[in-house]
Amino acid sequence: MAKIVRFECSRCAEHVAPDGPQTLCPKCGAPLYVRYDLAALKGKVTRESLTSKPKSMWRYSEVLPDLDPVTLGEGFTPLLPSRKTPNVFIKEEGLNPTGAFKARGMSAAVSMLRHYGIRKAAAPSAGNAASALAAYSAAAGIEAHLFMPKDVPMANRVECESYGAKVTLVDGLISDCGRMVAERKQAEGWFDVSTLKEPFRVEGKKTMGYEIAEQMGWTLPDAIIYPTGGGVGMIGMWKAFEEMEELGWIGSKRPKMISVQSSGCAPIVKAFDEGAKASEMWKDAETISAGLRVPKALGDFIVLDIARKSEGTCVAVTDDETMTAFREWATDEGIFAAPEGAASLAAYKKLRASKFLKESDSVVLFNTGSGLKYIDVIARYFRWDRQALPKERSIGGIIQPY
Ligand SMILES: [Zn+2]
Repeated sequence: MAKIVRFECSRCAEHVAPDGPQTLCPKCGAPLYVRYDLAALKGKVTRESLTSKPKSMWRYSEVLPDLDPVTLGEGFTPLLPSRKTPNVFIKEEGLNPTGAFKARGMSAAVSMLRHYGIRKAAAPSAGNAASALAAYSAAAGIEAHLFMPKDVPMANRVECESYGAKVTLVDGLISDCGRMVAERKQAEGWFDVSTLKEPFRVEGKKTMGYEIAEQMGWTLPDAIIYPTGGGVGMIGMWKAFEEMEELGWIGSKRPKMISVQSSGCAPIVKAFDEGAKASEMWKDAETISAGLRVPKALGDFIVLDIARKSEGTCVAVTDDETMTAFREWATDEGIFAAPEGAASLAAYKKLRASKFLKESDSVVLFNTGSGLKYIDVIARYFRWDRQALPKERSIGGIIQPY
């Protein structure tokens, strides 16, 4: 495992000594990156050395913090070639523990908490981050305090309660939940593992970038479409690409990084279109994709910078476009996606129609979670929760032995 050399600010490049748990940059309040001595690892840690490693995100332990991991088998999810669209690959993150990509970041963050002897964690969440923090906290013997909007998908609440977390349902959005954590954390002794307010969730999420490279034979695709709430995965993957180049594992080619948001909450898309460096708080955010209902992301300026310097773009899709894509993935590919994941297919279709992407471009679409986490949301959208089945498909009585 890699020794942390320093923490480095993502905005002002301030260096912070690698002792003890970290939060934000002490100078400017921006997120911190974990930095290792990659030059020393170059040539010693090779792509070939990975073959004997576990099939989880911890196979990349040589470039992850040196601590005893709290793991439930997260990561190394399949990269499925689309059955319908040539050159499209689906990164199936729904197969992670707790059914979403959030497991990666929380595995790393909770490992850090346990390493430093921190007993109480708190986080605001649109749903899946809470489930993941609850699960990893249970595994680590840490108390989890979770704040979610009261209309969070049912599975997230049921999971969090089951894992023994302390759940508060808030009449508001994730930004309101975040404020409540910030107001109470000092008095309660909670460590705040909010998106990007500590540097380790990025370290977990960056493994998605390592995996895509390894699964594509150490090349990168022409484009990656990533559903963006907080944007940690996009930030993490970009970090992974830079690290891999420094290690000599890949060249300098980068995918076009494409951020997809919902038209009901698209602060980063708006900022991208306006040429702004950061986003503004989105008012009256509303979308079926709970994880995309993030009205203002702390790392928005990093996501915008990555989209621009990779010659990517940011695109908004409506809930109806998302749910049409959801049905397509289910019926064409056998993939039961989270709405956020389906949004990346909706974005791909838009970008093909606008000729931003060509058929010959290799494109990775992220399905960030399993649709099973959204059963109530999906059933409500298609009204399957109300419609009775036609009579000939509804058989009375009990199932008999046959
Ligand atoms: Zn700074």
